[in-house]
Amino acid sequence: MQLVVLPGDGIGPEIAAVTEAVLGAVSQRFQLGIATTHDIAGQASIARYGKAVRPELVEQVRAADGLLLGPTSTLDYAGEPGPSAVFRKALDLFANIRPARTYPGLPGRLGTMDLVVVRENTEGFYADRNMAHGNADILVTEDVAIAIRKITRQGSARIARAGFELAMRRARRHVTLVHKANVLTTSDGLFLAACREVAREFPEVTVEEIIVDAMVAHLVRNPARFDVIVTTNMFGDIISDLTAEMSGSLGMGGSLNAGARHAMAQAAHGSAPDIAGRDLANPMSLVLSAAQLLEWHGRASGQPRFGEAARAIEAAVAACLEAGERTHDVGGSQGTREVGAALVRRLAA
Ligand code: ATP
Repeated sequence: MQLVVLPGDGIGPEIAAVTEAVLGAVSQRFQLGIATTHDIAGQASIARYGKAVRPELVEQVRAADGLLLGPTSTLDYAGEPGPSAVFRKALDLFANIRPARTYPGLPGRLGTMDLVVVRENTEGFYADRNMAHGNADILVTEDVAIAIRKITRQGSARIARAGFELAMRRARRHVTLVHKANVLTTSDGLFLAACREVAREFPEVTVEEIIVDAMVAHLVRNPARFDVIVTTNMFGDIISDLTAEMSGSLGMGGSLNAGARHAMAQAAHGSAPDIAGRDLANPMSLVLSAAQLLEWHGRASGQPRFGEAARAIEAAVAACLEAGERTHDVGGSQGTREVGAALVRRLAA
């Protein structure tokens, strides 16, 4: 498996180093033959090349089997899209898959839960990427600003299909469609219509529809009732930060950006500049994202040992949490590097 590693900004290099060590351990144990190429994107790339992502880097990632992108700052790209937006758009990574679960050793803030947010990733309210040219966040006059939200039938259908296919691989086979069609009658009406059409192909999956504001109340009240949550871009962004934090910490938030041919592992959180360089960051988010990438690659290439490696990583994360080998954000006292070493020790055993 050819993997490109871009450590990113802030805590990125620290948690990317742990993730690479974990991948090295499973590559050896499960004979995955993971070969990594290192490059830079984000602030480091701006400093060296004057650009957050060089076009040749996009091509290099396109030719690889996967991308591991450390968190990149969401600010300071002087009007240019940041690395995350560049790769999501260039590689058409339309599905952002963000699991949030509790563990026996980490019971969560509001009770146990095991759900996955499946967020549309290429259109919606993301003004920096929902246009063919230009930015959809527009200053009409000095005192008037508008932003455009784009919903397409095709975009809605493909995210729905990703969600229903995922639900079929899970025990409960339940999908919740989250929308605001009571107000956004046309755009979210189209989203719901496309999702309902796809739902008909999956009769074994039960479906419910919930308005986004009610959804956050339901999540806080009883997160255990949800399995797969399918929603549009910005609702999914917000809900998945909530669910990651509810599961214990943003630092546990794994995330995969997947398309038909390419996938990018990227933690659900940002670059956390407040704790960067202090050995405080929780590396589990990026480690779990990498596990998702291995699972995706195994399915895409028909190699089950990648899925076995992903499950071994998840088991090592659970065992570390149970044993108290964890960072401060999840109630532990260990540093990023120490937690990384504990993960590698468990995976090598
Ligand atoms: P950015 O500008 O890159 O979005 P941010 O600080 O605004 O950065 P996040 O990086 O998502 O946003 O961080 C939000 C909060 O969660 C911060 O207090 C940060 O320290 C904490 N946090 C995020 N990721 C982790 C992690 N892996 N481990 C521990 N704490 C984290």
